[in-house]
Amino acid sequence: MSISASQPAPQSPDSTRQPTVTDRLVQANAEYAARFTDPGMDARPVLKVAVVACMDARLDLHAALGLELGDCHTIRNAGGVVTDDIIRSLTISQRALGTRSVVLIHHTGCGLLTLTEDFRHEIEAEVGQRPAWAVEAFKDLEQDVRQSMQRVRTSPFLPHTDDVRGFIFDVTTGLLREIDPQH
Ligand SMILES: [Zn+2]
Repeated sequence: MSISASQPAPQSPDSTRQPTVTDRLVQANAEYAARFTDPGMDARPVLKVAVVACMDARLDLHAALGLELGDCHTIRNAGGVVTDDIIRSLTISQRALGTRSVVLIHHTGCGLLTLTEDFRHEIEAEVGQRPAWAVEAFKDLEQDVRQSMQRVRTSPFLPHTDDVRGFIFDVTTGLLREIDPQH
């Protein structure tokens, strides 16, 4: 049996419970799909760019950068930090899906400015297991953008590292500020 957008959302096992936030998202998706027409795109981003950014809820990348559906890859994590997994996604983005430019976006008021590696130690004390990942907390936004640019530029896995630029997004003005990689 095929599933189409016109079918009702699956019934909750307990239809008397209050709708959850996920229920709300599923409902919104049904409305989205009802208006959706297949744009006929393939998976290769039209603008050949990958944007690496923080997961922050105040950062609407498509609106802030004038991007349309299909234009770019968006790769996000806490802080927009260039971790091994970001390099994994960038490598696939460039080698398998044709992107050439990388844009890195951190932002003012980032949660990682308030954390330290103690976060990890506290988790270890609580659950008895040390996370394998670093928190990647930072105190200096500009310095962390520079470090992120450096990690991308020096990755041996990425064939295209000549157009890598880093920015800080101001969550109060919506404006990007470019960070000079040399300072
Ligand atoms: Zn953030």
